[in-house]
Amino acid sequence: MHVVGAGPVGLLLTALLQSMEGFSVRLYEKRHEYTRTRMVQLAPYLVADSVETYRTDSIDGDSVAAIFDPPELDEGLAFRQSISTDLMALLNDWALGFCPLNSIERSISDLIDARGSNAVERTAAVVTAEDAMAMLEPGDVLIDSTGSRSLLRDHLVPGSEDADGGANTLKIRLEYALVITFLYGQTYDCNEHCKYYKNIENAQYKFIPMVHRTYHDGRISHVSGIVSITAEDYEAMPSRFDGEWLRSNFPGVAQSMDRFIDKIKQETHGEVLGDLEIVRIPLDLYRARNATSRQWPAAGPSDHPFASSPVFLAGDSAIGSPYFQSISLGFECAMYLAGLIAQRDLPLRDLLDRYELYIYKQWLRVYMRSKMIKHNKDLFESLDDPLALLDKLHIY
Ligand SMILES: Cc1cc2nc3c(=O)[nH]c(=O)nc-3n(C[C@H](O)[C@H](O)[C@H](O)COP(=O)(O)OP(=O)(O)OC[C@H]3O[C@@H](n4cnc5c(N)ncnc54)[C@H](O)[C@@H]3O)c2cc1C
Repeated sequence: MHVVGAGPVGLLLTALLQSMEGFSVRLYEKRHEYTRTRMVQLAPYLVADSVETYRTDSIDGDSVAAIFDPPELDEGLAFRQSISTDLMALLNDWALGFCPLNSIERSISDLIDARGSNAVERTAAVVTAEDAMAMLEPGDVLIDSTGSRSLLRDHLVPGSEDADGGANTLKIRLEYALVITFLYGQTYDCNEHCKYYKNIENAQYKFIPMVHRTYHDGRISHVSGIVSITAEDYEAMPSRFDGEWLRSNFPGVAQSMDRFIDKIKQETHGEVLGDLEIVRIPLDLYRARNATSRQWPAAGPSDHPFASSPVFLAGDSAIGSPYFQSISLGFECAMYLAGLIAQRDLPLRDLLDRYELYIYKQWLRVYMRSKMIKHNKDLFESLDDPLALLDKLHIY
């Protein structure tokens, strides 16, 4: 098993495959250190132990029932039960609240290294597509978990080398946004009423928080909010900056944000700890049209390495989504792929087809959830203007 990319998803896959008898795993990573401190959250469904708890999300609970057949859901839950207790303990911890991305990465990486049996061979290098093809021998499996700029997404279809990049990617840009993050020295929670009342004077640039207490210190709240911005705003901003830069350069956005924060302070009498961290990002929803190399063997006999050795995209390589869902989705697909690989008697053709179908179903799920969130955000922007609100509603 060659796993290229040791971000959260490549690491989870490696840890899952490592605990299965009879596989040797090689893990390739170009970074020397895990430095990404941004706070991320894992969805509770990742550690669900019943169909009911798997479907508790108010937005996608019904979609799950509509898209997946009961045996598929049961199979997923059964695989979770088989995950080793050391790894499951970590997942349970992360599902409680926000935690730093590099702490997830370091913990899984340390766990892989600490396991005495079935050592993983690690290579610190930038792997090129040519390297990936050259290292494959018959019987090998390659998993590309290199993130949104996937190493092999454009190589999965015969003839695609000659086409323009991106032919295997379906991308939908939902909006541009600022993600504004800070720590707050009091317990603070927020529901939809709170989002509305704290934004009541913000005609534009509403600050929409997603709030969770940090998992390691119950007295500190980690607040991460999204502010929608225009394409022009996006172009005029650096990729990362602080509160002072925002106040000097985009006072309109800063005033909305500060008004929101002032109202939190009035209500709970706390202070912002440290500075604000702000990144501007396009909120894209995308999928690989082919998440495996199955088109290579289907095209007939060939000496191309992908015709005999299967390739799978996992994590952001396969599907990307906004609104804090992506790692969970990547973990979910990684668990499914590991579960398929564990079924030794499954013919390769079925393995490829089943993973493609599963990825497509997860895509439908996340597409619907993301469009619903975006739609709700659009309605929220117009709550005080009934005519504008009605323009955004399509009833029949
Ligand atoms: C501001 C921000 C906030 C976010 N918040 C959340 C959140 O709250 N919840 C959530 O679920 N998601 C969140 N995300 C998204 C989340 O960070 C990604 O979905 C997640 O990191 C994807 O994991 P991955 O392992 O698929 O890819 P990555 O994390 O991108 O890892 C890919 C790895 O592959 C390595 N690599 C790449 N190319 C090569 C190569 N050629 N050779 C060797 N190694 C290579 C990279 O160095 C990297 O380590 C957020 C993203 C942003 C930008």
